[in-house]
Amino acid sequence: MSQQGYVATPPYSQAQPGMGGYPAGFGSAPAQPLYRHYGGPPQSFPAPPTGKNTCLWSPIPPVKSSSIYIQQRHHNLGTLACSMLLLRLHSCSVLKVDHPPLAFPAGPGPVQSPQAPPTSHLTQQQFQTAPPTAMGHPPMGPHSSQMAHPQSPLAGPTMAGPQSMGGPPPMGGMGRPFPGPPPPGAGGQFGGQMAGPGMAGPGMAGPGMAGPGMAGPFQGGAAQMAGPPQKKLDPDSIPSTTQVIEDDQAKRGGQVYTTNLRGQVPPLVTTDYTVQDQGNASPRFMRCTTYSFPCTADLAKQCQVPLATIIKPFATVPKNETPMYVVNHGETGPIRCNRCKAYMCPYMQFTDGGRRYQCGFCNCVNEVPAFYFQHLDHMGKRVDFYERPELSLGSYEFAATLDYCKNNKPASPPAYIFMIDVSYANIKSGLVRLVCDELKTLLDNLPREDGAESSMVKVGFVTYNKILHFYNVKSALAQPQMMVVSDTAEMFVPLLDGFLVNFQESRAVINNLLDQIPDMFADTNESETVFAPVIQAGVEALKAAECSGKLFIFHSSIPTAEAPGKLKNRDDKKLINTEKEKTLFQPQKAVYEQLSKDCVSQGCSVDLFLFPSQYVDIATMGDVATHTGGSVFKYSNFQVERDGQHFLSDLRKDVEKAIGFDAIMRVRTSTGFRATDFFGAIHMNNTTDVEMAAVDCDKAVTVEFKHDDTLSEETGALMQCALLYTTISGQRRLRIHNLSLNCSAQLSELYKSCETDALVNFFAKSAYRAMLNQPLKTVKEILVNQAAHMLACYRKNCASPSAASQLILPDAMKVFPVYLNSLLKTGPLVGSAELSTDDRAHQRLSTTAMGVEDTQLLLYPRLIPLHNMDVASDVVPTPVRCSEERLTDAGMFLLENGCSLFLWLGQACPPEMIQSIFNVPSLAHVPVDLRSLPELDNPQSQKLRSIIDSLLDQRPSSMKLMIVKQKDRSEIMFRQHLVEDKGLHGGASYMDFLCYVHREIRQVLT
Ligand SMILES: [Zn+2]
Repeated sequence: MSQQGYVATPPYSQAQPGMGGYPAGFGSAPAQPLYRHYGGPPQSFPAPPTGKNTCLWSPIPPVKSSSIYIQQRHHNLGTLACSMLLLRLHSCSVLKVDHPPLAFPAGPGPVQSPQAPPTSHLTQQQFQTAPPTAMGHPPMGPHSSQMAHPQSPLAGPTMAGPQSMGGPPPMGGMGRPFPGPPPPGAGGQFGGQMAGPGMAGPGMAGPGMAGPGMAGPFQGGAAQMAGPPQKKLDPDSIPSTTQVIEDDQAKRGGQVYTTNLRGQVPPLVTTDYTVQDQGNASPRFMRCTTYSFPCTADLAKQCQVPLATIIKPFATVPKNETPMYVVNHGETGPIRCNRCKAYMCPYMQFTDGGRRYQCGFCNCVNEVPAFYFQHLDHMGKRVDFYERPELSLGSYEFAATLDYCKNNKPASPPAYIFMIDVSYANIKSGLVRLVCDELKTLLDNLPREDGAESSMVKVGFVTYNKILHFYNVKSALAQPQMMVVSDTAEMFVPLLDGFLVNFQESRAVINNLLDQIPDMFADTNESETVFAPVIQAGVEALKAAECSGKLFIFHSSIPTAEAPGKLKNRDDKKLINTEKEKTLFQPQKAVYEQLSKDCVSQGCSVDLFLFPSQYVDIATMGDVATHTGGSVFKYSNFQVERDGQHFLSDLRKDVEKAIGFDAIMRVRTSTGFRATDFFGAIHMNNTTDVEMAAVDCDKAVTVEFKHDDTLSEETGALMQCALLYTTISGQRRLRIHNLSLNCSAQLSELYKSCETDALVNFFAKSAYRAMLNQPLKTVKEILVNQAAHMLACYRKNCASPSAASQLILPDAMKVFPVYLNSLLKTGPLVGSAELSTDDRAHQRLSTTAMGVEDTQLLLYPRLIPLHNMDVASDVVPTPVRCSEERLTDAGMFLLENGCSLFLWLGQACPPEMIQSIFNVPSLAHVPVDLRSLPELDNPQSQKLRSIIDSLLDQRPSSMKLMIVKQKDRSEIMFRQHLVEDKGLHGGASYMDFLCYVHREIRQVLT
């Protein structure tokens, strides 16, 4: 048996990751190299200016004049919109978008090929005079709805000739060898929305310009909020995320996406599509930063585009898509390559009349086992190709044999242990009673295997404050029995029989217990709690029962009682914006680090529900959860009436969701590249095995790849993710996801096949990890530098020659800057004393395990106008750009980012609208502490509630509805999600950031 295998046979007879023997270096600090550029140190060009002298960066200066041109480009596909914005000092910005050309047959040749990939341009240019009218092109009126200028003499070489307005462009996607990003709709992204005169540019590159996130402190919100109204650039003229989302939905929405093509770029995560698996994993399971890898390490280094895949192994699949097939090869177990241990998949090439197969990953030629032999057809394809999921599908499962089980013993069904902090705070708030009442019904919904009558998950109960109480709820008992453990230094479980039980069988005793718990501790005055011993007790209980499982811990305060893992308040706002700020986010090690290891080796996941009224050191308390595939939920200053439903929704989703336990994941690749780095709620004990005590339908692992040799355009880049895990009923299975990408010696192919949402997921996770080891300022600089390098490389190698003053963005990345800027303004990276350290730590930890859908929404929230909604239609109104500009005094908007949900009411909101939604006569009467809308029998109310319900339904966790009135103090909370505006706690507006990035690119290029 080869030593290379990740699950050798027998898998647990070798040194097992996660089964003891952890080397030093677990956790955040270990073998983490310093945050860096892909493939090179960041210092190859000057760092961006930073510091306090930010005057040119923050305010938007007035302009003297401006005009806009839109221009179409001579191009086979679609149109090119181009606008020019005259800025102060006669400098001019030109924004252009190239659209994807038809792909010509790829071939070797210079990187700078005539078929330049799609591009967006924004130019800063010196002009001596305002050129527009002088050149015979009248400036466009405000908000012109059509493109006025098919051509402009200002055009540089890239802007050559006009595109004929007549005749549709050739359709993309048909017969194209490379299914690049979708061709644009006619009219371009930026056409038809140009604003008129009176626009100002942001402060253009000056020596004193500060970096993003370095802008001054909050001064009353976005720039627009303070002082007299200023003229500014029309925000419609810069790439719009909502437009990109709408276009993709228009183009690919409602369609079937078949996964038969290698290197195919899937629809956006926001698009509504149906997947048909034809040999590659659905994008719901795997999404890549680019679907065309560069052939060589040199090219990868040159472009600095991260090569990464975001894997969500248990992603929820809509009912109209094929469920996961389970392949069972009986006692033999799954068929694997002898050398690299890859599992049978569509990339194995059968030869020799079907007697052998060549591994697509390592090229080893293997014998086909006798039982698996099958003849080949005239195409060399096995005749049973379509009958075997492992030959024809991208995703499927294998039933695992005993060799894949711990100690060669069959796995047991997992157990859920509910551990309730019954200290004074939780009793007084009513939380204990709320949890106990809910569990009585919730436990009927424990997850079960498809088609099974009942769940096989066992349940157990613990309450605690400074000491722990275990409960015997054996079905034979008339009354539950309590056993107390007061020695928390050496945790043990005082009972084995009767602690973990089947809910159906013990229902009466359990309900009895849940009735009694709130009363038993009703008079408590114990305010101190332990925490680490609680987790330890859970692990010990699972260990004794020889099963994996999950702990649901409901906890209120920082654990100050004398016990292992005792914590003290180390929140220090003075550290913010210093070298030591990172220490606020570093977990207290020792006890918690060891706990994580214990949990992972037992397959014990920890979900933490926190109800703090002050600082609780989430960086440390959440550490075990985020290394065991768990989640941290936080309800500050919890009040049952106000926050109860929000919390219960989270709890229900969490208990009921699809999940696998005791998982170990390995990502294999074809020769020439390999997985080098992993981000997620995971534990790594060596460089290849990703261990997850549990992995549920919302958890994603981001995997970064590096070259170790040259990749071939012919064979492409193949990856296989194999996840060994225990199902909810105790079966051991292997879930396999395969994905094939293209490889190209032309960087233009890479840029065409980029996925911005996936890129942003990677950058968010890598930056949030880096901030544990490096000052925030450095992390942010590196982010911007890498982005500038990516875009500069595109410009240098892929775009047609153009004036240096143009900002040129690849079409597939054209909204990358707005996401990057939003990331720089997120709580964890922003470095403001106004934000709570726990909130920042919480967001950092939550993001670590997010999939692409979640990071997309988090960094570009949906702002949905409600005042014009069509109550007859069942579609959600189209979101608008996240900017104060889009709000109207007479409007009503919903904003959501997956974590927060706001209903914003304009000052001049019509009373009829208020009446129909809130059943009160005017805005002043709307209670702001409302957490759900009254159920009124009118179309407006019904429509709005159904929109909210559908949003809540789609998201992994519940969102608390917050009512915000325009100009109220609470509006600040809402405004910090308007990511195109200047950050409330620092950070540039989108427009300013674009100019800043442009300047960085120019520095790289010179
Ligand atoms: Zn192989």
